Amino acid sequence: MLPCEVFSLRRTRVTPGRQAAGCIFPPFRGRRPTGKLDAMSRGENALIEWLRHRFPANPARVPIGIGDDMASVRLDGTLLQITTDMLLDGVHFDTRRHIYELIGRKAIACSLSDCAAMACRPRVATVSLALHDGMSMEDVKRLYEGMASVAGEFDCAIVGGDTTSWPGKLAIDVAMLAEPMSPRGPIRRSDGRVGDGIYVSGPLGGSVAGKHLTFTPRLELASRVVLDPALHAMMDLSDGLSMDLHRMCAASRCGAELSAEAMEEVISPAARAMSQEDGISAMEHALHDGEDFELLVTGGEGLRAEELGLTRIGRLTTPSREGQPTICLCDRQGRFSYVEPRGYEHFR
Ligand SMILES: [Mg+2]
Repeated sequence: MLPCEVFSLRRTRVTPGRQAAGCIFPPFRGRRPTGKLDAMSRGENALIEWLRHRFPANPARVPIGIGDDMASVRLDGTLLQITTDMLLDGVHFDTRRHIYELIGRKAIACSLSDCAAMACRPRVATVSLALHDGMSMEDVKRLYEGMASVAGEFDCAIVGGDTTSWPGKLAIDVAMLAEPMSPRGPIRRSDGRVGDGIYVSGPLGGSVAGKHLTFTPRLELASRVVLDPALHAMMDLSDGLSMDLHRMCAASRCGAELSAEAMEEVISPAARAMSQEDGISAMEHALHDGEDFELLVTGGEGLRAEELGLTRIGRLTTPSREGQPTICLCDRQGRFSYVEPRGYEHFR
């Protein structure tokens, strides 16, 4: 899809330690924080910028174009949201270790999470498959059964797609159409304001231990959050908090200050267990691991976070002097460190 996620290249950052432990994901090739965007971010963000210019959106027909969780298009007077996600064997799942039902489930759930990110109700999806030659008909049916289970749970009809086979690895692409849950329309990542609280919907880090296959898309929560008038901006956490918060800050022209104390409260048990094994701090896992599929929310003082089950982890601030988003992690003593967006380098 030209708009949104296809060109935001959802990706999972993985540390060398996790790779050594048998992780399916590519090794993390990012660098230690340097005060600047790492090579991955520069390459990817540069591509997104190029695409924005190459395919400019006509606001009358495309109110939200490239760069958010979904694009917004007006067809016959009706506002529709569209997203697409491609998942690859060896990157987002591993056919040697994961059952086809869970792989299929994840493929649909990722797009459902993008719908939640913009407070949109999923309606229909198409599924395109590049099947590996060695897969049996039974394998393919199991893949579709996994998709059917989660699509049915969230009332999203699978209405078609394309199926091909080749000697390469399994690839799954899902396109999904949705409609806004509220008269407010889709909630964007670019509407955060300086002074907003930053909130997350659940524990962070260590998703690779299993949650990345079994997570529940936060659609029910999104349907309640969108009713809160203090809600400003929202997106889902697919590439890790540091990367996705950086994107939200860039879109909203803000910086961010995270509270180390509050972050401690949202570190997942899986991240803590992983930290014991790989020696990377649990906080690092929470900040940088991908595929949490929780919601990242910003809102004004009146946001009913507790009632909604959201945990406050920081606040939006003014960007740095150069106009770049700066994310800091602050401890109780007022000491702070910069948090760099990290990820896997697709463009080298
Ligand atoms: Mg997303």
